[in-house]
Amino acid sequence: MTTPMTTEVGLRIAQPTVVKIDGFRGRLITGGDTDYDIARAVWNGAIDRRPRLIARCSGTADVVAAVRFARDQDLEIAIRGGGHNVAGTAVCNDGIVIDLSAMRGVRVDPVHRRAWVQGGALWGDVDHETQAHGLATTGGIVSHTGVAGLTLGGGVGWLMRKHGLTVDNLLAVEIVTADGELLRASEDQHPDLFWALRGGGGNFGVVTSFEFRLHPVGPTVLAGPILWDASDAAEVLRFYRDFVRDAPEEIGTVVRFGTAPPLPVIPEHLHWRPVVMVGTCYAGPIEDGERALRPLRASRPPLLDLVGPRPYVDFQSALDSTVLHGWNYYWKSTHLPQLSDELIDVLVDHAFSCSSPRSYVAMFHLKGAVSLVAEGETAFGNRQASHAITLDGVWRPGENFGDRDTAWTRQFFTALGCFREGVYVNFLGGDEDPDRVREAYGDAVYQRLVDVKTTYDPANVFHYNQNIRPR
Ligand SMILES: Cc1cc2nc3c(=O)[nH]c(=O)nc-3n(C[C@H](O)[C@H](O)[C@H](O)COP(=O)(O)OP(=O)(O)OC[C@H]3O[C@@H](n4cnc5c(N)ncnc54)[C@H](O)[C@@H]3O)c2cc1C
Repeated sequence: MTTPMTTEVGLRIAQPTVVKIDGFRGRLITGGDTDYDIARAVWNGAIDRRPRLIARCSGTADVVAAVRFARDQDLEIAIRGGGHNVAGTAVCNDGIVIDLSAMRGVRVDPVHRRAWVQGGALWGDVDHETQAHGLATTGGIVSHTGVAGLTLGGGVGWLMRKHGLTVDNLLAVEIVTADGELLRASEDQHPDLFWALRGGGGNFGVVTSFEFRLHPVGPTVLAGPILWDASDAAEVLRFYRDFVRDAPEEIGTVVRFGTAPPLPVIPEHLHWRPVVMVGTCYAGPIEDGERALRPLRASRPPLLDLVGPRPYVDFQSALDSTVLHGWNYYWKSTHLPQLSDELIDVLVDHAFSCSSPRSYVAMFHLKGAVSLVAEGETAFGNRQASHAITLDGVWRPGENFGDRDTAWTRQFFTALGCFREGVYVNFLGGDEDPDRVREAYGDAVYQRLVDVKTTYDPANVFHYNQNIRPR
């Protein structure tokens, strides 16, 4: 913290500014730079914040320098991994963004099935490198999502029921703490910190590198969506609920309610038609998957069945164009302990009443390996929930669906009142009651997170996140 800094940070960001951070080799971007607006933009186009300085780090040493500089200058800090969080916490007003977007390296050891991933990598980077060896770890279902934010919150994806959450595959991290110290955290080193980093989000420092366990996956997997008309949704969901209850853990499913997106694989006559779409991915041999998925596919005649063998890496990016950068998003989310008949009726009643053709609902099936890890073993809460659901209002710049679909998500969320319990911290929006962070963990885990926060960040330097306040 006492490292001398030579700096002049301009107070008026509209003016070209001269900024220097000692020991920093990356790029410093201010309001005077022509690409400032691009650099401050995040995935959610509804977020419009103007940091005083964006420190685009070229490596770990830059992160150390940036954290020390920010502390020295008493600047608010936002950390940017993939910039994907719907709440927009990767960018702040007036402070400094410690931007890892230029740190996207991935190294794979195929013999020991390990991957080392830099803190600004996206899931597409990880899948690309690991699949070259027929390996993978649980990651997000959209390839332009950041590894860092997703991992630190828990990490749900197609492979989780077989291989656990992303955090269940995390072996170690390199992290720059609030006083600019570089630590390695693992089961053996700073185990309390390592525990907290597996679910507690970006509260404890800037993670510059992750080490993951990998598993043989594909490279060709049996995967794809099955689409039924919205009018069949209640029947489809009841069958689906009973099917997944006893399904092998290799079967990963995500149910999507909304219109059929205009993807090239979907025939044009179905584009924008309201549908319930069950996305599937089988993390095992194709023939076993064919057998295991047959009952679901045969449950009632679909509009379209796209389940088939395909490269895992392609499947991981199949939804990318349905949630583009720069569109506006408003989310509400919760865990659902179980899918009762009454809840299914509420889902079907509300899911299709949004205004924007791009708004949708996504429901991830959990259980399997997620629920086999004891509650409290990592900081990811609510491991026994059956599903995590997000209600996602989506509208493009210039479209006037914003107010209506924000109201839709809120009303829908209210209607889920007596069916919901817990939430996935990474699906929380920017206008949530701070108590919802506690809801993501449950009281015991939350108190332990507070203890770790108090040890490693007593001044709450890293508070631009779903915040865990120190004592
Ligand atoms: C379209 C879409 C699809 C998604 N799909 C999934 C999914 O399949 N599974 C899933 O689990 N989640 C999913 N998510 C949620 C996702 O996990 C979060 O949005 C997550 O925050 C994204 O990580 P990021 O690095 O892009 O976040 P950013 O927006 O860059 O950062 C968000 C927060 O994460 C923390 N953070 C980021 N980088 C670091 C770092 N290097 N060190 C310390 N803290 C850091 C900071 O607190 C920061 O405020 C999805 C989100 C979107 C928008």
